[in-house]
Amino acid sequence: MSDSEIVLLGTGSPLPDPNRAGPSTLVRGGSSVILCDAGRGVVMRLAAVGVIPPFLSAVLLTHLHSDHISDLNDVITTHWVMSGEPAPVNIYGPVGTRAVVNGILEMLQPDIAYRLTHHDDLSVGPQVEVHEVSAGDSFTVGEFHVRVGATDHRPVEPTVAYRCERLGAAIVLGGDGVPCASLDDLLVGADAYVQTVIREDLVKLVPRQRFQDILDYHSTVGQAADTAQRAGVRILVLTHYVPAPPLGQYDEWRSLATGFTGQLVVGDDLTAVTVATRG
Ligand SMILES: [Zn+2]
Ligand SMILES: [Zn+2]
Repeated sequence: MSDSEIVLLGTGSPLPDPNRAGPSTLVRGGSSVILCDAGRGVVMRLAAVGVIPPFLSAVLLTHLHSDHISDLNDVITTHWVMSGEPAPVNIYGPVGTRAVVNGILEMLQPDIAYRLTHHDDLSVGPQVEVHEVSAGDSFTVGEFHVRVGATDHRPVEPTVAYRCERLGAAIVLGGDGVPCASLDDLLVGADAYVQTVIREDLVKLVPRQRFQDILDYHSTVGQAADTAQRAGVRILVLTHYVPAPPLGQYDEWRSLATGFTGQLVVGDDLTAVTVATRG
C-alpha cells in the first residue's frame, strides 16, 4: 500500500519573504491530492512538486485570513485554463467561503470575458464548487476521508482544522489558532499534525502593537508541542514561521518543542514528510 505524503508548500506568513511562499500545505496519497490553504505563490510551489491545479482533488481552507487565501484566485484561474474539459475545482472552507469565492470570480470577470472571447474551445468560465463546512462535518476527497473540527483563532470566526485519513493513517491540518479542546479531539491518535506557529519570545521583542496582537491567537512552538504530545501524535510538522528564521536554521525552534517526544519536522518550503499508512 502506498504511503501518504505531506509537503510544506509555503512556510511563510503575511510578512513578505523571498524564500517562503505563503501558508499552504499539500497532502497526497494514491491518486488523491489535497491542497490546504492557498497563500502567496502557491501555484509556483505546486509546480515544483509536479502538481498543476487540475490535478487537485480538493482545496481545503482553514480560514479566510488573507495570507491563507491570497492566491486562491490563481488556483481557480489556472485550474480553469489548464483543464481540457470543463471541470470543477472543489473548495471546502468555513462559512464565508462562498462569499469570498464569489468575490474572486467577480474580480476575474474581465479575464474570464477576454478568454471566452479569444478561445473557441473555452465555452464556460471557471467551474467552482464551494462546500461550506462546520465542526463535526465529514466528507470524502478521493481516497481520503476528511473530518472537520473547530479551532480557536478568535476573533477570527469560524475557523476549522481537517483530519484527513487514508488507509488507516490520519493527518491533521491545524491551521492558525491557540490550543483548544476541539482540536485535541480531532487529533486523538493522529499520525501527523501540521500546525502553524509563532515564536512568542521573539515576537515580544518587536515594539509595535500590531505585531504584539498576533500573540493571543496563534500557537507558540511550545503550545503546538504540548498539543501534539497530549494527543499522542507521531509526527509534528511546524509551519507558518513568525518571524521566519534564515533558511535551514531551525535549532532554536526545535529547542522550544521539548514537550514533544515524537518526530519533529521544521523545514523550508517544499519539505516533504512521508506518513506511513497502516493498510
Ligand atoms: Zn489566521
Ligand atoms: Zn496565518
